[in-house]
Amino acid sequence: MITVMKFGGTSVGSPEALRRAAKIITDGKGSKVIVVSAMSGITNFLVKGADGSHEDRNGLIEEFERKHVDVACQLFEGKQLDEFMKDFGERMDKFRELFSDEAASKDPYYRDNIISQGERFSSLILGHVLRAAGVRSVALTSEDCGIYAEGRPLSGSADLQKTESVMNIKVKPYIDDGVIPVITGFYGIKNDGHPLTFGRGGSDYSAAVVANAMNADLLEIWTDVDGFMSADPRIVPDAIKIEEMNFGEAAELAYFGARVLHPRTIEPVRIKHIPLKVRNSFKPEEPGTIIHHLRKPRDDMLRSVAMKTDLSIIAISSAEIAFHPEMVARIIEKIADNEVVIYSISTSLSTVAFLVHSNDVKSIFAKLNTLDPGDIERIEVKNDMALVCAVGDNLLSKCGVSAEIFTAVKEARANVEMISEGASDVSLNFVVPMSRVTDVVRILHGKYAGGIR
Ligand code: ASP
Ligand code: MG
Repeated sequence: MITVMKFGGTSVGSPEALRRAAKIITDGKGSKVIVVSAMSGITNFLVKGADGSHEDRNGLIEEFERKHVDVACQLFEGKQLDEFMKDFGERMDKFRELFSDEAASKDPYYRDNIISQGERFSSLILGHVLRAAGVRSVALTSEDCGIYAEGRPLSGSADLQKTESVMNIKVKPYIDDGVIPVITGFYGIKNDGHPLTFGRGGSDYSAAVVANAMNADLLEIWTDVDGFMSADPRIVPDAIKIEEMNFGEAAELAYFGARVLHPRTIEPVRIKHIPLKVRNSFKPEEPGTIIHHLRKPRDDMLRSVAMKTDLSIIAISSAEIAFHPEMVARIIEKIADNEVVIYSISTSLSTVAFLVHSNDVKSIFAKLNTLDPGDIERIEVKNDMALVCAVGDNLLSKCGVSAEIFTAVKEARANVEMISEGASDVSLNFVVPMSRVTDVVRILHGKYAGGIR
């Protein structure tokens, strides 16, 4: 039995957290592979440094070193500390070299290299904590493991096939030998060996990639919350923790609002049928949420109600646009070119409407302006919108579900501005004004989610 265990920033963010993580690891049964985030706050700190001037960087590197040495001094002493400082010194030398390398800083992937440094040090520390506890372990970087990635700077995707074949050669022997690998999350390497990060919060995805590559039996994401909830407890105080849900529901929720998991975590484990558990490292006795191929009938219609705020609808009108799919394609191409996320699209005879983050509206406009003037008659923008994502197993196959949901929306006196139904069989998404969204979530949750009351 192989379990991949991922520890997030707060779960490795202090000497106590690191000790707690080590205890969770040693208490676990079977073979284990660990994936870690940077200690909390470190990646934000590096992001600032990557943007700053050369002088700023020298100061930053001193502070980075101090933060890690402080933690190490509270964890190790004597020979253990000496051994750690030797490995640490080698990594710091490489990091300093990178920071002062003017030529390297011209590379479009330079920032990927800088902001992924935190993981190299957190994995080293946790590896030594395990060793100090008498456990055989080895700290490995994504370079050491062969976690391959491709894509644009700061938004890589793993090459699952290549990663699996290389990790089988480079990492599997450790596992077979009873050694626990402690692997850097957040980034992979391109074919040329250069680091490429998976987007902020991407260590969850790294862990799923490692679970996929090692054909693990279980993926555990150890974080600082109890699991997925039936709604955001800040909005719905009686929201309950979800014990069990299927991959589709978790993917929709992670994507549309719940900030529990990186949305890309689901796919690499889903395709290999590897169950995933979200657990709280501060309360290891709690069972968390388990996500798998669940097909159990349930009583409550909705598993969870999530929301995403600060969105805008951009409605583009042009005569008979529906008869000109090539025009819609051109518009989408322009918008996608900006690397913006389109949360929803809806079309009618003469309008195509996009739901996007409000921050992206300006850059989308700039792009749309470069379209042939004949393509567009009018563009309308509605700001201060929010998306409600109502998630439940097999929602589409049940009769009358939409009617019930929209009756509840009417009760909240909210006008529905856009609807997406049918794109997924586990969620019904619709847009309402931001001023009404919390009422919608509360009423929907009260009626249809959170178990029977
Ligand atoms: N350390 C990275 C970040 O803060 C990756 C992660 O935490 O998942 O974005
Ligand atoms: Mg994190």
